[in-house]
Amino acid sequence: MGYRTVEESYDVVVCGGGLAGFCAAVAAARGGGSVCLVQDRPVFGGTSSSEIRVPPQGAASFHAYARETGIISELLTEERARNHEPPGFDNGYINSVWDMALYDVAVSTPGLHFHLNASITDVAMRDEATIEAITARVSHAETLLTIRGRTFIDCTGDGVVAALAGCEWRMGTESHAEFGEPHAPPEASDDTMGNSIHFKAKDVGIPVPFKAPDWAVRYDDPDFFYAKGRWPGTPRNGYWWIELSVPWHTIYDNETLRHELTRHVLGIWDWIKNRDPRLKEEASTYALDWIGQVPGKRESRRIMGEYLMTEHDPLQKTVFPDEVAYGGWFVDLHEPGGLLADFSEKAALEHGKDSSFMARSYVGPYGIPLRMLIAKGMNNLMMAGRNVSVTHAALGTVRVMGTTALMGQAAGTAAAVALQEKMEVREVPERCIRDVQQRLLRDGCFLPNVMADDPLDIARKAAITASSCSAMSGGEPAADSPIWEAELLKQRRGQWIAIGEEGVIDELEIYLTNETSVEQSVEAGLFAVQHLWDYRVDPGKPLAEARLAVPSGHNGWIRWPVGLREPALAGSYVRLDLAACPEVHWRIASAVEPGHVSAYEIGNGLMRRYGIGEMMGFRIRPSQKCYGAEHVNNGVTRPYKYTNLWRSDPREPLPQHIQLTWRKPLRLKRVELTMPGSLLRDYRQYPELYRDPQCPKDISVQANQDGEWREVGRIANNYQRKRAVVLDEAVETDALRIVVLATNGDPSAALYEVRCYDEEEELPC
Ligand SMILES: Cc1cc2nc3c(=O)[nH]c(=O)nc-3n(C[C@H](O)[C@H](O)[C@H](O)COP(=O)(O)OP(=O)(O)OC[C@H]3O[C@@H](n4cnc5c(N)ncnc54)[C@H](O)[C@@H]3O)c2cc1C
Repeated sequence: MGYRTVEESYDVVVCGGGLAGFCAAVAAARGGGSVCLVQDRPVFGGTSSSEIRVPPQGAASFHAYARETGIISELLTEERARNHEPPGFDNGYINSVWDMALYDVAVSTPGLHFHLNASITDVAMRDEATIEAITARVSHAETLLTIRGRTFIDCTGDGVVAALAGCEWRMGTESHAEFGEPHAPPEASDDTMGNSIHFKAKDVGIPVPFKAPDWAVRYDDPDFFYAKGRWPGTPRNGYWWIELSVPWHTIYDNETLRHELTRHVLGIWDWIKNRDPRLKEEASTYALDWIGQVPGKRESRRIMGEYLMTEHDPLQKTVFPDEVAYGGWFVDLHEPGGLLADFSEKAALEHGKDSSFMARSYVGPYGIPLRMLIAKGMNNLMMAGRNVSVTHAALGTVRVMGTTALMGQAAGTAAAVALQEKMEVREVPERCIRDVQQRLLRDGCFLPNVMADDPLDIARKAAITASSCSAMSGGEPAADSPIWEAELLKQRRGQWIAIGEEGVIDELEIYLTNETSVEQSVEAGLFAVQHLWDYRVDPGKPLAEARLAVPSGHNGWIRWPVGLREPALAGSYVRLDLAACPEVHWRIASAVEPGHVSAYEIGNGLMRRYGIGEMMGFRIRPSQKCYGAEHVNNGVTRPYKYTNLWRSDPREPLPQHIQLTWRKPLRLKRVELTMPGSLLRDYRQYPELYRDPQCPKDISVQANQDGEWREVGRIANNYQRKRAVVLDEAVETDALRIVVLATNGDPSAALYEVRCYDEEEELPC
């Protein structure tokens, strides 16, 4: 008997099960379509899976509170809550708990079907602009699949479906002359970033010898590593810079690259174990535990779409009418050739985050348009992931998995809206973009230039009050914390402060240390800023200025009587800047007040977020009432132009509640809540078995019925950001309370958003 043939039909066919494809498939299925996800590996997750082990990162690696939300945050929050392993700070740590978190969602999502180990080999066209079906071969099952679809989403990374369909694509590097991109080289070429494999090593507590096979590459030169941006931080795991591309082709030569990368990994391990003067001793008890054999790919085909993003867009933060996602990773362009090149990548060569290269490539958060995800001239083909419509330089920033996952959710949502509105996806940007955007916001995503405005959400018509609200009075350094060199005012530093309802700052105090033998003078200024990511060193005329004298040997608070009364500032951020004064330390606060962040100057007229989102030591009088109840229906679900958070007074014991009151009784069937937590930092900064303390754990939803508060829904043991309560029966009420009974540790109850609907589930369009 020959190969078995199987034919299936779906509304949406998602090709490739990396994080872009996975999120596209889940979004399309949740949007009501019948969906098939076709993935050529035995696990989902693509480069993030336990087969390759690259940690998903994104905008929050560079911008506080910029963590990607929606489906990707649901997945990563679940993984952190379940996984006993820390994520590690480099590649090689992801284990099967992550694969299973994805598999669990794939199996449990109604309407989502999938084929694993199914490699797409061909497409059938209905006409030159419309795909009819894809063909896939299932390994070890002697099965050929023909899968028909209404809409196809190519998330294969290599853009294989689009290429087979005859779409226009590019591979290589554009010249500077073509688009004038700052990072484009003078000449166009076939150069791409490389493929990589990783390893994980284990400290077994006894000396473990290592002898490399004869066929491994031999490394002897410390400068190859330490002077060329290839720093092996620890012997525990693999390194992003173990990569190869040209002279090989990242698609056709993938198997050669796998073998070559294996030779290099073994050679690098041999260097670390036997010759590296810095790591040899530490590595003596380490043994190789795992070497990946599926190369992760950074770059191959880029499919041309209805819009081609160039590097100018992230640099200038272009506002797109069809914004459906955002990015915020820097323009991260590795040297073509990888280990065969002179160095790894320019920022690493210049020693990282404060390099002049970084100052020129620090971007975001910036918007991503839907047209970038729709194949040019095609009726029913979209793409998400690294094969989207960008130049080589723009790929440098959009290629990280937080961003590719958002693109996936956007593409899946657009496909679901197209299905519901009975149109081709090509028509969605013109005819139905608002519906896509509002659906994404309802499903937990964030868009920098679009606010939630869902006419079906009856919470928007409610007056909101709270049992109590917290105020912000600054951040105190820990009494016993050592003085860090990183706290020196080597460059200008800024601290964002959310201004409360009166717009009054009577006084600031700043925690400064002067270890020199002479008094120091520090220039201070207060500036109005647009939002939390307004990094301009010069945001305009200062609201107030002062010179602060810091006596010799001083280690404590320095007072600045500001006397500012600006009602127009209420509900916005100001930035407290201290100019460079390299003899003085501005001490770091020991805790973070939600929605408050600090930054430091990096050159090119810009600041960047400090550390992993730390606050500087300051006090403000009066305390700022910046966590009011009214934020829960203001259309923004994270700190951005303001805190956008209701937070109860931590001095008041739980339970605490917010109350929505309507002028007349309304019918209510579904309540959707957006909780705080897991937003400030990148995924890798959160430990194993993590549940964010700020996230409400137990919640009672209560409706006012004839003057009595009756529980109509409950959430127990929560740690997720977005939860819906579907009432057993619709209630008629003029007031609703969301009562936070317990959090995962924080003394304050807090919420970003409450939505109320009178139907169980309905798309807004
Ligand atoms: C070594 C390395 C380090 C990186 N570091 C980071 C980092 O630290 N953080 C970060 O966020 N990003 C990082 N990146 C970038 C990021 O991993 C990729 O850009 C990202 O994986 C792209 O996502 P994707 O979903 O488009 O592709 P992928 O993750 O590659 O997923 C594509 C999926 O499609 C499947 N597929 C391909 N062809 C077919 C076919 N014919 N039929 C069926 N299925 C198919 C593949 O098996 C794969 O599962 C790194 C990349 C590499 C290689």
